Amino acid sequence: MGKTKELKERLFFEPAHIQKSIGSEGREEANRFAEGYKSFLSSCKTERECVDYIKSEAEKNGFCAFDCGKENVKYKPGDRFYYINRNKAVVIGTIGQKGLEEGLSILVSHIDSPRIDLKPRPVYEKSELCYFKTHYYGGIKKYQWTALPLAIHGKVIKKNGEELTLKIGELEEEPLFCITDLLPHLADEQMKRPFSKGVMGEELNLLVGSLPYCADPSEAGDGADLVKLNIFKILNDKYGLTEQDMVTAEISLVPVFKARDVGFDRSLIGAYGQDDRVCAYASLMSHLRLNIPTYTALTVFADKEETGSEGNTGLESFFFGFFVEDLVSKMGANCRKVLANSCCLSADVNAAFDPSWPDAFEKSNTAMLNHGAVVTKYTGSRGKSGTSDAAAEFVHKVTTILDENSVAWQPGMLGKVDTGGGGTVAKYIARLNVDVLDVGVPLLSMHSPYEITSKLDVYMLNRALEAFLRRSR
Ligand code: MN
Ligand code: MN
Repeated sequence: MGKTKELKERLFFEPAHIQKSIGSEGREEANRFAEGYKSFLSSCKTERECVDYIKSEAEKNGFCAFDCGKENVKYKPGDRFYYINRNKAVVIGTIGQKGLEEGLSILVSHIDSPRIDLKPRPVYEKSELCYFKTHYYGGIKKYQWTALPLAIHGKVIKKNGEELTLKIGELEEEPLFCITDLLPHLADEQMKRPFSKGVMGEELNLLVGSLPYCADPSEAGDGADLVKLNIFKILNDKYGLTEQDMVTAEISLVPVFKARDVGFDRSLIGAYGQDDRVCAYASLMSHLRLNIPTYTALTVFADKEETGSEGNTGLESFFFGFFVEDLVSKMGANCRKVLANSCCLSADVNAAFDPSWPDAFEKSNTAMLNHGAVVTKYTGSRGKSGTSDAAAEFVHKVTTILDENSVAWQPGMLGKVDTGGGGTVAKYIARLNVDVLDVGVPLLSMHSPYEITSKLDVYMLNRALEAFLRRSR
């Protein structure tokens, strides 16, 4: 090696493509991991579906409901439990060897993703077509959600108290749904709108039917809203639903497609909802494989991140802090001490450098696909506003764990300064006086109906989270 090259290698920090360094065994493991991840993505498209999945995997691995129904249950190292908050957020935990006051290892990800929700009174008929009115959830580019096959996922509490879980459109034999868009031939006026208004919120109307109700084929039909009536007749026959039941429901529209390999080399994963189910899945898998960790491990799967973490299942809520308090009081420790000594990885995706849109990024501080797990010191916007900026000491602590475990990682930032910005749940964990750093994977087409990750990065993220939960100091 020439002297110059040697000096460069010693002094520069250039995260590289990990294809070579990961080795053939690593590549195979990455491919295997991707298969489990894809099937998770294809079957879990809402936070409630994720909670059900996490609960069932946890139970299969010996986790019991927190407390096991007994007030005085004392936990010992290796004991495993889960706590579910309103079927939309969940915490799983494993007691470690050290006392709680030595601190916890906390992983946090979110299991909600951008999507389109129904309004409380969604059903209407216009020009003999029946539609559902919607209100989008999270930050979406609205035009991306038109002319796209959509499925209905949701939960209804009927007037009589009966609960109904809906999942319509995922199976080939089921009908699916669609938001229509204007044909380009007639879109001159639409195309002149500013891009952000190309498709507007009140234009995101879901087409759900076109046949009028007719009790007797010889009848000419009776009055207005017969298509709407026919839809309700079907909903009532099949699910026992009435219009009032829609008010006491949470119904979401999500893309129908399943997670698939992308690219001739099958190196990438294309799927809806990878922000942030990639981190949720990797966190879950890392935690399930723990035996008895040194530090007690808590893995949190939060809701509502995409709408600002507000609401009692989001991390703005005190539910997680209260849960820690309950655990700590059960174990006879001081909660503030426990939290002050705790470490957290806020596991969330970051933007991957997109060569088709280079101007949005500052390349040397942007994560690249296939360059490993991304470590994000701070997010936010306009002068680091609205972020938890991790301290140098903690960034060092985490990256040392990653280096010691041969985890490929790279620093990342969400785009150029002042081009926009965004946040994660890190700041809500920091509020508990816990050290916290964002770690995740780079993602292309974030918040679109079809997001793209790299299999090698997803695998590295999993290894990063696992190394963190197994930390010895
Ligand atoms: Mn996210
Ligand atoms: Mn997001």
